Formats: sequence, C-alpha cells, structure tokens
Amino acid sequence: MKKISRRDFLKGALAGSATVAASSLMGSVVFADDGAVYTPGTYTAQAQGIGTVTVTMTFDETSITDVVLDVSEETANIGQAAAEDLKAALMAAQSGEIDAVAGATVTSDAVRKAAASCIAQAKGEIEVQVITEKEEEEDGDWLGTEPEIDEADITQTIETDILVIGCGTGGMFTMASAAEEGAKVIGIDRFPTGVGIRDDLGAIDSRYQKEWGTKIDKLEYVTMATAYAAGHIKQDLVKLWADKSGGVIDWYGDRLAERGVQLWHESGDSDDEVRYKHYATGHSPRWAGSDDGTGEVLNGNKVLYDYATSLGAEFHYSTTMIKLVKEDGKVTGCIAKNGNDEYVKYVANKGTVVCTGGYSLNYPMMEAMQPWNLRVIGMNGSEPGAFGDGIKACLWAGAKMDETHCLMIFDRCALRPDQETGPETAKSGDTGFFWMGSQPWLKINADGKRFFNESGTYEGIIHADEYNKGHVHYTLFDSNWTKYAGQFKMHGCSRLVPFENGADPNIPYQAIEGGMLPGLIEAGFVFQADTIEELAEKLGLPADEVKATVDHYNELCYAGEDTDYGKEPHRLTPVDTAPFYGCKNTGFILCTLDGINIDTNMRAIDTEGNVIPGLYVNGNDSGGYFANTYPNLSTGMACGRTVTFGYLLGKTLSGAAENASDVEIIPENIPVAGAEEEATTE
Ligand SMILES: Cc1cc2nc3c(=O)[nH]c(=O)nc-3n(C[C@H](O)[C@H](O)[C@H](O)COP(=O)(O)OP(=O)(O)OC[C@H]3O[C@@H](n4cnc5c(N)ncnc54)[C@H](O)[C@@H]3O)c2cc1C
Repeated sequence: MKKISRRDFLKGALAGSATVAASSLMGSVVFADDGAVYTPGTYTAQAQGIGTVTVTMTFDETSITDVVLDVSEETANIGQAAAEDLKAALMAAQSGEIDAVAGATVTSDAVRKAAASCIAQAKGEIEVQVITEKEEEEDGDWLGTEPEIDEADITQTIETDILVIGCGTGGMFTMASAAEEGAKVIGIDRFPTGVGIRDDLGAIDSRYQKEWGTKIDKLEYVTMATAYAAGHIKQDLVKLWADKSGGVIDWYGDRLAERGVQLWHESGDSDDEVRYKHYATGHSPRWAGSDDGTGEVLNGNKVLYDYATSLGAEFHYSTTMIKLVKEDGKVTGCIAKNGNDEYVKYVANKGTVVCTGGYSLNYPMMEAMQPWNLRVIGMNGSEPGAFGDGIKACLWAGAKMDETHCLMIFDRCALRPDQETGPETAKSGDTGFFWMGSQPWLKINADGKRFFNESGTYEGIIHADEYNKGHVHYTLFDSNWTKYAGQFKMHGCSRLVPFENGADPNIPYQAIEGGMLPGLIEAGFVFQADTIEELAEKLGLPADEVKATVDHYNELCYAGEDTDYGKEPHRLTPVDTAPFYGCKNTGFILCTLDGINIDTNMRAIDTEGNVIPGLYVNGNDSGGYFANTYPNLSTGMACGRTVTFGYLLGKTLSGAAENASDVEIIPENIPVAGAEEEATTE
C-alpha cells in the first residue's frame, strides 16, 4: 500500500483548507436551496487512534469525491492494513458512519470521528480546521509543560487503594497480584483493552527449568547484564529479578494451567557451542487449542483479566492518563480523560503505578534520546500507546530519567533496494517483515564485502551498520536454507525449529517457507536468482565483488573454519545451491528500555536521589536495568523483568510484604489437565 509521508501530507491538507477559505471569501458558497449540501473543496481533520489519524476529504456540491487517509502512526499490520477498506467504506457510504474493520477498531473509530468532522466542515456546521504539525515536532521540545486542568473541568473523582496506569504486560501482573490480596485496585488503559502480555517471559529457577535441568548462575547472569550495559545499571534490580522471577513464572504457570494452557520453558541445547553465550531464560505459553469460553483463542491478557476481575479488580478502559497529581510532595493519583472526553480524577491511597510502555513511538523523544538508533530502522513494531506518556508525567512530577538510553531493535526489516533507512521509511509502513533476518546467513555491505560475524545478537549487526554505506546490510542465502535453519539452533524468538526439550518455536520455518518468504518475494523485498551475479544486480550491488565474497565465504564453509570472523562451524553454511535469495536489511524497533529511576521497591526517584512518595514505575517506563542495547541472548529478559516487578508491586502495595525482596511466592504447581508432556517432533 502506498503511503504519503505525514509532513508532505499535511502540506497538501493545509493547501486544501486554504483553498476552501479562499473560495468562501469569493462568495462561491453553494446554498442548500439549490440542492447543494456541501461547500465544494478539500477539508481535513485529525483524531486520536493509536497515533494521530488524519482524514482529508474532497467534496463537490452534493458528494464526497475523494478520501485520503494518513494512518502512518497506526500499527503496521492492523490499522495501516485497514486503510484501503476504510477509504472504500467512506466513499461507498458517502458518510462517516461506517462499520469498523475487524481487528482495527481503534483506527476505525478515529477515521470515523475525523471523517465526521470533515463532513461537518463541508456542511458549514463547524469552522474549517487548520491542522499544524504538533508543536513539539517543530521545536524539538518533546517534554513540553504539564497540562493545566481546571478542577471545575473534572467531572468525577474515583478513589482506590492502588491505581495502575497502563494495563499491558506489567500492569496486568500488578492488577492480578494485588487483587489476590483483596486490595482495592483500579487499572486504566488508553485503549478498549490493554495491549496484551508478550509470550517470551524470562526467568531463573522456575519449576519448568528445574524439570528440564536448566541451571543459570545468578551472579554470572548479573555480570552479563552489567557488561551489556557497560555498568549503567543498578545491579540490585537485576538481582531482585534473578531471585524472584522463577516464582512469578510458576505463579503465572498456575494461572495458565487453570485455563488448560501449558507454559513451556525454551531450553538451550546440550551441544550449543556458541561464541556469544545464550542464557536459556525463556518461557512461552502454548495457546494452540485453547479457548477463552467464546470460541476465541485465549491470550495472557484474557487469562489475567478474568482472574483479576473475579477477585474484584476494576478495569477502566478507553481512559488515558494525562498527568499525575502531586500534593505536598506526594503523588496521590492522576487525571485522565475517559472515553466520553471527560476529565476524571483518580485518587490512590496506597500508590500509583505507572507502566505505559515506553516511548518508542514518540519520534521527537527518540530523536532527543537516541538519534543513532533512528538511522538504522525501516520498521517500528512498537506496542500501540508507546508515546512516552508515563515517562513524561513522571518527569513533570520531578522524577529522574536514565541518562544512558536503550532500545530493543531486531535485525528483521527488509527494504526494497531503492529504500533508505530512517523514521520516514518506518512510518510509511511499506517495508518488509523479514522475521528470518536473525539467521546467521552470509551478510555483506553495500560494497559487496563481509564485515561481521553473523552469528551474534539480533541488534549487533544493526549497530555495525552504522559504519556501512546507507546504514544497511544485505543477507544472502540459498535453496538449502530450511536445512540450515535446523542446524543453526538459534535462541529465543529467532529459532525456527523446536527447542531441544520439545518447546515449539514462536514461528516455525514451515510458516516462513509457506507464506512469509513467497510474500516478501512478491512484494519486491526479497530477490531470487539463478546466479550470484544476477542476484547482486537485482540488489543493486557490485556483482564481481559479491561473487568474490561468496566464493571465498563458501571456501571457509567447506573448510569448516571461519578464519575471518570466527563464526561457529554449525552456523557456517555455504551459499552454493541455486536458486539464490537476497535482500537489503535494516532494523525493526520493538520498544525503549530506559526510563525513570527506581529503587528495589519500584519507587520513583527524584532528581536529588530521593524517593517520590506514592509513585511507582515499572516496565518500559522504568530505568536502571538496561543501557545501550537489549541483551537478547537472555530470552524474554524485558518481559521477565516487567512481569516479576509487576507481581511484586501488587504484593507490596497491598501490604502482603513490606519490601519486594520479602515477597514470598508459594506456587501451587497446578498441572495442565490432559497436557501432552512429550516432546514435539518436527
Ligand atoms: C512485537 C513485540 C514483541 C515483543 N516480544 C517480547 C518478548 O517476547 N519478550 C520480552 O521480554 N519482551 C518482548 N517485547 C518487549 C516487551 O513487550 C516490553 O518490554 C514489555 O511489554 C513492557 O511492558 P509494559 O507493561 O512496560 O508495557 P506494555 O505491555 O506496552 O503496556 C503499556 C500499556 O499502557 C497503556 N498506555 C499507554 N499510554 C497510556 C496512557 N497515557 N494512559 C493509560 N494507558 C496508557 C497502553 O495502552 C498499554 O496497554 C516485545 C515488544 C514488541 C513490540
């Protein structure tokens, strides 16, 4: 789908609005008594979807003649994918009253609202609106000032013991764990439901790991995390996770088992001789065959929502936190806007937990914090809502943010040969999801030369791209790739075959072979050729140089030793059997991982180093845990930290324990009825 860049689009939209104003001044307004309904012209309006949705409609006297949608800030494969259908529906209905596209209700609602505004403008019912770029995009002031909200504008005050702002991964664990203690807990989320709980959850010493025999030395692990972050972390936070995560995962395993869902540990491999050490911390639920009671497949959000609400927790969805409330130095809750656009004040007697998912969709903030990462992206797969709301609200309340920043970025975006890296390309939504990008195939730069040990971490090669022409690399593989995928024995979500203990991979190679790869070829992101020279030409690379590189690399593979970069023998696979495949690659953003400084009770710290009473921060909004880059060689470390601390917060805020380190987790070890425990086979 062709997308218009937001900046160019707004220029066009503004030109359209100006035309309308001018034609009105010249007296060309057509009145209803001659049958006209609209003042001809182009009108534009915006509404809040996942991001900002802009609708521009052109009218003649009696009809809508054109619709242009800018949904570039919406989720790539959901809201953006719905754009063509929404446009067709608006044209067919000749009104804003259209059905939502299934699965894209947030974007559909925003399109409906903005279309209604365009129509009202064309009918002269409301003034013509002139849209300007967001102020912060113009002056780089991503933080802005805390909004002032008049007490008289607050329609309702709601009191609770614990307020959870953001009911995603971390929020759901706090909600369920606090409700379990009988605490009065309310969770608010900007969307009609939270964004869900990811499936790879990291832990140490869970019962699943013990059953399989996975042993991870906690202090060695803390050392690894410290080295990754070059020391920019609080080791006590990582130690807290190492001590408590196994128990929390066992507790989650019980909640899943109650619903008939098996949690699996993603083991390492006994003969896994790798240069970059992998820590087998991952745990994933197996949803296939599960049922939420309505015939739909279950998910983590549904499991914990049902559990928490059965214990009295309340969820206020479609409710967006605008700012925190601080009185006499203490955070006492927040002011939010509900689904009716009304201000509501929440008063939390025991604590306010902020976990709104980081800032990876807030490009001005990204540009200010970690501009280097914006140079190596072509896709942004962030969870919707990651606009930095929580971090900004905490900063307004006097909290301190990490000074070293961190992004989770994977090497899984494919570009067409003429596409460049950067936010504009990422916002276009017109790039390829190259899931298999982390396979250690031969990777070369724009000069046709190898430059890196491909068997590294997901983000290592993306950072190395900073030194390549165009900030990209190219992946080359051959028709034996499915065989090699089994032999590579990758870790975490990059694994394409079952783990040694039988746990399924997130995406098996069969799904790539059957759909993803043919789709990428058809869309012009991956090229296929009978010779290496032909492949190089299709990719726009110097054919002679690429051929020489491939020949030399194949020699290393046949000899079984990578004397150039030290790639392990089982990952040293030749590119020698046609057809050959290749594509241009860059980074895929998942989330930011730097945030507000916290102590080991997740209490926010102010710029003087003191605790801000009443304010707690978790997940992507919290800091002190990651710096520079995400240690993806420990599977599920981000969610593992978030769910562990989310659970601990529920216990401490409800009074079950004074400190997070004192929380005792006594799992019930509920077995899954009828679960097949045997290893799956390919
Ligand atoms: C595609 C993808 C896959 C990932 N897979 C993994 C994985 O397998 N393992 C892993 O460890 N990590 C993974 N991550 C990273 C992981 O998702 C995050 O680290 C983790 O979700 C953080 O949880 P959170 O609670 O901080 O934020 P989220 O889970 O994003 O939840 C934040 C919630 O806050 C809400 N919100 C935002 N603003 C407001 C506001 N103003 N008012 C009210 N509510 C608001 C949002 O709607 C959302 O529901 C993945 C990330 C992505 C994008």
